[in-house]
Amino acid sequence: MNTTLRTDLTVRDICEGFMYNELEGKGLFGWSGRLTIQPEYQRNYIYADGNKDVAVIESILKDYPLGLIYFTQVGDDRYEVLDGQQRITSIGRYITNKLAVKINGMETYFDGLDKVLQEKIMNYSLLIYVCEGEEPEIKQWFETINIAGVPLKPQELLNAIYSGRFVTAAKEVFSNSLNSNMQKWQCYINGDPKRQDILHTALKWVAKGEDSVSRYMSEHRQEDNIREMQLYFDSVIEWVKNIFGSPRSEMKGLEWGELYEKYHAVSYDQAAIRKRVSELYADECVTRKRGIFEYVLGGEQNPVLLEIRMFEKSDIKTLYERQTQQAKVDGTSNCPMCSQMENNNRNRIYKLTEMDADHVTAWSKGGKTDIFNCQLLCKTHNRMKGNK
Ligand SMILES: [Zn+2]
Repeated sequence: MNTTLRTDLTVRDICEGFMYNELEGKGLFGWSGRLTIQPEYQRNYIYADGNKDVAVIESILKDYPLGLIYFTQVGDDRYEVLDGQQRITSIGRYITNKLAVKINGMETYFDGLDKVLQEKIMNYSLLIYVCEGEEPEIKQWFETINIAGVPLKPQELLNAIYSGRFVTAAKEVFSNSLNSNMQKWQCYINGDPKRQDILHTALKWVAKGEDSVSRYMSEHRQEDNIREMQLYFDSVIEWVKNIFGSPRSEMKGLEWGELYEKYHAVSYDQAAIRKRVSELYADECVTRKRGIFEYVLGGEQNPVLLEIRMFEKSDIKTLYERQTQQAKVDGTSNCPMCSQMENNNRNRIYKLTEMDADHVTAWSKGGKTDIFNCQLLCKTHNRMKGNK
């Protein structure tokens, strides 16, 4: 891979012919048409918050460095911005009067700026690394550079590496906050469509795991449709809706793709499932409501998912005293299960630290987490009982 550091380019050069798309909020071209500022894989313009973009202009006026900008050379005298798109867009918007900056307390557009300051901005030199090379090299290099501004998310980086028709088509659907389905999807998925979080989830689901996303993108890179991913994604969402009905806030961000893979072939009685979900929501012993969905899908086999509430420490001490005193009177072990055994432990008195609290009637069979349903067992017996 070749990298060249260019110090000869100024704001005037790079912003010559600057074009900005107001609707999509992105800088398009610059450097007299040689430069694509926002290639398909790039982030949308997240500096346009009247704060960071203003800071870019203020840095130039104060002669502060803006950091390195990275271009990739994609053809004869053709370039794309790999990193620095947001800084270039901020500058371009300022010099085309789409952004005002406070100068001496006054909101000032470029046209209203003192000529000396205008020239200062136009003649500001940018430090630009131009790189040329193969994908894996660029990927490795990109991962090691210290990216200024808002760090790229892993999916933004993947979009850069596998840019092409597939990514373009996928972003139209999954990175578009105006998509009418987005609100529905965000009931089940965490994150920001603009930062590629929804697309990342769609890819993770269809590729069957985080680790396979990059392979999937590489294999489909040249395709101009996303039918398979779209179909799979819709199937997962429909499946969840079908079983559980209206979304609950605890559903957001669960691993629905994995759950779909594991359970979509199982048939469920939706009415019974929804009733159980409501009951578990109402059960104060269930301290992890997010675990309810996986718990019922799995046939209520794994209460660990629900983080069932533990007994009170004071109740445990009371019971220990009670069981131990009685055991001493009877000459048996203070573990009720040991006292039934035919070995040396049958009259062993355990210390409190050697015992654990146990639900006499299991929580899963309707037993409550209170002192009336509690007994202390030696750790061995508690573990044996828990595994049943
Ligand atoms: Zn025991």
